[in-house]
Amino acid sequence: MAEQNDLIRLSAAAQADGLASGDFSSAELTAAHLDRIDAVDGDLNAFLHVSREEALEVARDVDARRAAGETLHRLAGVPIAVKDVVVTRGIPTTAGSKILEGWVPPYDATLVEKIRDARLPILGKTNMDEFAMGSSTESSAYGRTLNPWGEDRIPGGSGGGSAAAVAAFEAPLAIGTDTGGSIRQPAAMTGSVGVKPTYGSVSRYGLIAMASSLDQAGPCTRTVEDSALLHELIAGHDPKDSTSLRDPVAAFGEHARRRDVKGMRIGVIEELEGEGFAPEVRARFEESLALLEQAGAEIVRVACPNFRYALGAYYLIMPSEASSNLAKFDGMRFGQRIVPEGGATAEAVMKATRGAGFGAEVKRRILLGTYALSAGYYDAYYGSAQKVRTLVQRDFAAAFESVDVLASPTAPTGAFRFGENAEDPMAMYLNDVATIPANLAGVPGISLPSGLAEDGMPAGIQFLAPAFADHRLYEVGGALEALLEDSWGGPLLDKAPELKGGAK
Ligand code: GLN
Repeated sequence: MAEQNDLIRLSAAAQADGLASGDFSSAELTAAHLDRIDAVDGDLNAFLHVSREEALEVARDVDARRAAGETLHRLAGVPIAVKDVVVTRGIPTTAGSKILEGWVPPYDATLVEKIRDARLPILGKTNMDEFAMGSSTESSAYGRTLNPWGEDRIPGGSGGGSAAAVAAFEAPLAIGTDTGGSIRQPAAMTGSVGVKPTYGSVSRYGLIAMASSLDQAGPCTRTVEDSALLHELIAGHDPKDSTSLRDPVAAFGEHARRRDVKGMRIGVIEELEGEGFAPEVRARFEESLALLEQAGAEIVRVACPNFRYALGAYYLIMPSEASSNLAKFDGMRFGQRIVPEGGATAEAVMKATRGAGFGAEVKRRILLGTYALSAGYYDAYYGSAQKVRTLVQRDFAAAFESVDVLASPTAPTGAFRFGENAEDPMAMYLNDVATIPANLAGVPGISLPSGLAEDGMPAGIQFLAPAFADHRLYEVGGALEALLEDSWGGPLLDKAPELKGGAK
């Protein structure tokens, strides 16, 4: 049997190959990851819940089926972590909120059903900003998650738990959700890979909705190919989601292995490379572009003038939709119920439950959204934001007439320190400036590491493609990853400091 430390450092694709050729069993592989979680997650806090027994049971079942000669899914037996905003039958699901403490869903999200059908052991549920609102995971009601690259650093958000789990070798695969960047930005902060698929290509059934017109689940991994393989697994039409697409799912894994960018036209978004972006982040971005150019890609500058209004539009549309989606947490149906002393009318129970159950950021956004939707202000705020959304979509459409993909740094800076932006919502929101346009337009995006920026923290580069052209992200991402790893002499995560540990 290979050393445990070797097993957990393999990519998911290599783990799948090792299982198929009998080098190790899924029970060994799953136990190795659970042991890693036990050893380091006490400090890291990437997991809110670890489902050790269930995961090992699935692993042993995969091993037995393989031994009996059954044909299995390529990723069968490869363990996975799931962001806690995705409902899992029999496994507690809180969306990082006190209001859902103790809730055990009676059903699976469609993407979880697919994961279970393909027999990937689910290691547990990962930490996140409460109801996916945030860019640092500091707004989780269950404590912060550390960035494996530095204990004083945020892992990004809202899906900091999923990104930290893959970057710390606790899981080779994780699920995230991206409403305004929550897969891509944590990937950038932790030196990992994250993909937001085309809106509607992965079912939203069973995601605890934040902003329904923006939410999209996708893969968090350490390699581009692993994201491609996980994307293939979770995508596809679902009659339970009215916005689910009917298009067939492409063989993304093959695209990731193609590694050919000759003749590919890459547009650098002028509005997302200059002011506000840290010098080292920009330098890594330029170096990545130079490598792609040497490999035969054509780099052009593209103007997307309305992107400068995207952040403002997002922070009206997102809270508006969230204020409506979160109305169902009323102390009657799910999780917590707080009955105030004295008369317990339904209204008093709702008020007490929501007052105690929601954190400050969630309350801020409910207020913002309710205000933006109120009769007197609807046109001025929500209506205007929707017009901006159309303009952003037109910018994308115009850009994609002349280029195959667009590129920008994923986030303006590397991982910042805990507390640095926590008191100032505007500073926190500004971190999403590069990721939000894709959500407003429904187009797909990938983030992969571009190198180390200020303070030795990872920086990310993002590529965006037209809707339904997700495969282009894997082509350019796979090519750049190979070029960069050649220049670094191995994966960026090999340079991450050894985790000190701290038992769970
Ligand atoms: N950081 C963004 C926000 O706070 C994005 C969140 C997300 O994608 N879920 O809204």
